[in-house]
Amino acid sequence: MLLREVEYARPATVEEAISVLATYDGARPLAGGQTLVNVMKARAATPDVLVDLADLDELRAIGFSSDGLLEIGSMVTYTQLQGSSEVEVARPILAEVAGTIGDVQVRNRGTVGGNVCVSDPTNHLPVLLVALGATFTIRSQDGERTVPADEFFLGVYMTAVSEGELLTKVNVPPSSGAGDGFAGLTIGTHGTYIVNAAASVSGDAARVAIGCVAAAPVRATAMEDKLAGGDFSEDAVRTASQGLGASLDPPSDVHGSGDFRRHLAEVSAVRAVLQAAGRRK
Ligand SMILES: Cc1cc2nc3c(=O)[nH]c(=O)nc-3n(C[C@H](O)[C@H](O)[C@H](O)COP(=O)(O)OP(=O)(O)OC[C@H]3O[C@@H](n4cnc5c(N)ncnc54)[C@H](O)[C@@H]3O)c2cc1C
Repeated sequence: MLLREVEYARPATVEEAISVLATYDGARPLAGGQTLVNVMKARAATPDVLVDLADLDELRAIGFSSDGLLEIGSMVTYTQLQGSSEVEVARPILAEVAGTIGDVQVRNRGTVGGNVCVSDPTNHLPVLLVALGATFTIRSQDGERTVPADEFFLGVYMTAVSEGELLTKVNVPPSSGAGDGFAGLTIGTHGTYIVNAAASVSGDAARVAIGCVAAAPVRATAMEDKLAGGDFSEDAVRTASQGLGASLDPPSDVHGSGDFRRHLAEVSAVRAVLQAAGRRK
């Protein structure tokens, strides 16, 4: 038998989904299933009840809040991000990065909610959403709460979403003149990352996040402080990146040593900031 026996629920409303999640300790949301089903096959996760979110149209919407935030439902796929006029207007980097995830099949099925809830350090979206200053809306039977990206990613497969809760949407501030950048080194052409970096530059300020160097994305705050004067020339950005690698403690594995990752972190951060500042494609 490929999978352990598991109950299956396919709620028609978000309220019903939350109710099932609250009722059964071992209940887990099922989004695109690309990670969850694989870890179930490997018996690394053994949920008792799968709560399939497929029929929840509310979670598939992309729109704007009354205060202008770009709202992305947790069941929005990467393909939807790529084709969305709202994303194109508000934060095109999201579509650009989504278009480089996996292949067409992965992009058609993989969801924003699944990508961030897996909190795999090598995934594309966690580091990007930290750099963009996104917030995450989480619902449970106790109501709704919003968590900033800096507090959402807690470790591999660990986020601020607790048992009985459902991530309903990701909220991204519109760029309002800010520029964004994303860079890194992948395993193969469309693989996951060995190290990645994302940056957002708005006026004199930069937000920079590094991925794959720890269990959750790391803000490069020292580099941000050094860039606070607003000089985004190549020399200034390279100088600001110095010491970033030494401040990190990345893992060594078959894809690269800790030292190689420290080096990649500085190179990727420079590239992401220069792209965000409009000095590099
Ligand atoms: C061949 C292949 C290549 C890939 N390449 C890349 C890549 O290059 N870059 C990249 O970033 N990703 C990549 N992925 C991962 C892919 O993006 C997955 O789709 C993603 O990690 C999980 O999304 P999912 O929608 O399939 O979620 P699922 O597998 O359904 O769920 C993942 C986890 O999130 C939880 N969850 C899902 N939705 C919610 C919610 N709304 N609220 C609370 N919890 C929720 C589930 O319970 C589960 O624990 C790849 C996957 C495959 C199969």
